[in-house]
Amino acid sequence: MECEICGSEAVISTNNGTLCAEHFKQRFEEITLSTIKRYGLIKKGERIAVANSGGKDSLSLLYILSKYFKKSNEIVSITIDEGIKGYRDKTIEIMKDYCNKYEVEYKIYSYKDFAGRTMDSITKTRTGIPCSACGVLRRYLINYAASEVHADKVATAHNMDDEAENVIMNLVQNDIDKMVRLGAYSGIIKEKGFVPRIKPFLFLNEKETMLFSMLNGINAIHTPCPYAGMGFRGLISRKIKQMETEFTGSKRNVINAMLEIKKGYSADSGIKMNKCRYCGFPSANDICEACKLKEELVKSPVV
Ligand code: SF4
Ligand SMILES: [Zn+2]
Ligand SMILES: [Zn+2]
Repeated sequence: MECEICGSEAVISTNNGTLCAEHFKQRFEEITLSTIKRYGLIKKGERIAVANSGGKDSLSLLYILSKYFKKSNEIVSITIDEGIKGYRDKTIEIMKDYCNKYEVEYKIYSYKDFAGRTMDSITKTRTGIPCSACGVLRRYLINYAASEVHADKVATAHNMDDEAENVIMNLVQNDIDKMVRLGAYSGIIKEKGFVPRIKPFLFLNEKETMLFSMLNGINAIHTPCPYAGMGFRGLISRKIKQMETEFTGSKRNVINAMLEIKKGYSADSGIKMNKCRYCGFPSANDICEACKLKEELVKSPVV
């Protein structure tokens, strides 16, 4: 397998090309920058919060945004600590090392501080799939953290695999309103209190983000969260992988179809927003999902 640009040995072959290490790194950065440009994700002078778990994807994103936008923008790293022993505590150490080494300002917000419980503790008393509760708290805290650090946008390292999962999950649940809020620039962008989310890695897949981090010497652990792979998302994730193996290009087609459908909808279509009675952040209901969950957790015994 030869690099399509220089003819030397290729290290990867995907929809984005068959490339050697050097040309792959170059193309990866070009695709990220062209996504930023095409969707107007970052404007000069904006303060960008990078949602940084300390994993390979978010460190790669922080690496590229720091490399190209540090002079024109302020970059701050925000980390949500779910409280998962043997997993998040390790990635947080990696995140701190990285931010200290490259002089990136960082802030950490934890489930424990917000809801009084770690994810490990929540799983001991709460029935159901851990990711459901975790997703509610993480989405809330990312927005809360981004507001607290006065960010104009929050950049997440969601890649093509993550987004294809989101699209299929929304389709299977017949939730078109939610699906059309996906994309490179997502969220209810006109609502005060919501920091818009941007996804510069939308057109890069899992295999590419993993290789990019390795080739750039980004230290990352490759063990997944102990609660990953359960429930609906786990099922969809496995099905998409199988689909991609049998029909190459499926993930990209899923994303492209979503982007086409999205064109017919406005960013805030179908959403009527109130303010949460407890925290004051925008919410579809009188009390937001995170405050409702927090109330439930406070009442259940701490383990
Ligand atoms: S896999 Fe589930 S429990 Fe683990 S961090 Fe992700 S959402 Fe939370
Ligand atoms: Zn090459
Ligand atoms: Zn609330």
